[in-house]
Amino acid sequence: MNKAFVQFLEEQANTLGFPRWHVLDGPQDARVCIQGEWKISLCSNNYLGLANNPSVKKHAARALEEYGAGTGAARSLSGSTQLHEALERELADFKQTEAALVFNSGFVTNAGVIPTLAGKGDAVFSDDINHGSIIDGCRLSRAEKHIYPHGDMNILEKMLKDAGHCGRRMIVVDAVFSMDGDVAPLPEIVALAEWYDAIVMVDEAHATGVLGAHGRGAVEHFDMEGRVDVVMGTLGKALGAVGGYIAGTRHLIAYLAKTARSFLLTTSLPSSCVAAALAGLRMLADNPEMIRRLWENTNFYKAKLEALGFDTMNSKTPIVPLLIGDDDIASELCQRLYEAGLYVAKIGTPYVPRGTSRLRTIMSAAHDRADIEEAVDILERVGREMGII
Ligand SMILES: *Cc1c(COP(=O)(O)O)cnc(C)c1O
Repeated sequence: MNKAFVQFLEEQANTLGFPRWHVLDGPQDARVCIQGEWKISLCSNNYLGLANNPSVKKHAARALEEYGAGTGAARSLSGSTQLHEALERELADFKQTEAALVFNSGFVTNAGVIPTLAGKGDAVFSDDINHGSIIDGCRLSRAEKHIYPHGDMNILEKMLKDAGHCGRRMIVVDAVFSMDGDVAPLPEIVALAEWYDAIVMVDEAHATGVLGAHGRGAVEHFDMEGRVDVVMGTLGKALGAVGGYIAGTRHLIAYLAKTARSFLLTTSLPSSCVAAALAGLRMLADNPEMIRRLWENTNFYKAKLEALGFDTMNSKTPIVPLLIGDDDIASELCQRLYEAGLYVAKIGTPYVPRGTSRLRTIMSAAHDRADIEEAVDILERVGREMGII
């Protein structure tokens, strides 16, 4: 082995440490079992509890029996299944677009699609707290990058105005920002795009199953159907499975299926995952009360935390950050909460700027009142002990 490389890795391990995470004994749900101890979970994006839904699991198990474990290659090489085709049809119906294309994760959807739609001579416009998969997609694209301060429509407009010389101009934005829980001003963004002749790509990862009366996302919430060129989402959050997708016109989907490298050059998702996502999507379509429950829980929980004096930032969604600031204090709070029975994630650098460390708590329709009341009691007790509230 190369000596300098071995030494480099050793130095990195000394500064970064080795990765440590909790090892669960069972499924993701409102409460999770970790080495024999039950904890209330406020750290998963399993917004509707579908990850451990009995019907979803039954469909996944049946698909595993019918189609086996793996798919062998990309769909254009070793073939698709009726399940893959049905999932795309129903995603398109759900998103009210002509067609959809399933990728292996949300990350590879963004990383592969953005460079496919913007290249040399083009320009991308990206909010400065967009998800890392969007950032990497922009980097891979070789387009001019214009990063505007979070939510600043004046600067976005100025950037669009100044990029008149570029070929295609594409605004890419998270619908719901994953670390702050606020919502992008989609109507303003679309209006700017229409005025300056740009296209819009919206990442609905944290919005699908959460925003809109039917859970279709920010596009539904703002009543913008048919005005967003590229709608992206994940199957891994509210839909309870794994995978990513793009919804749009038939021509957009055909183009991506023929050219997106992160679609073409990778083995397609196993049918068990596809069946789980499809079952989750059908449950969501048939049970809009799940979304109502998610929001009832969110409103109840957030009101309690705000009354206690926690700073929940500008959260407008079930992502409820508790801003702490100092990273060591946030780590200690996280650890003490865990010992008291509450599993939450601390978010520090590189996810958020230094000095804005926070605990990110996430509500789910799977939580019941007892879960939430107990979680709030623990937060109150530990928060007081540490002088945070
Ligand atoms: C989680 C997330 C992704 C990535 O989706 P995965 O399916 O988990 O890979 C992309 N964009 C945003 C905004 C996300 O929050």
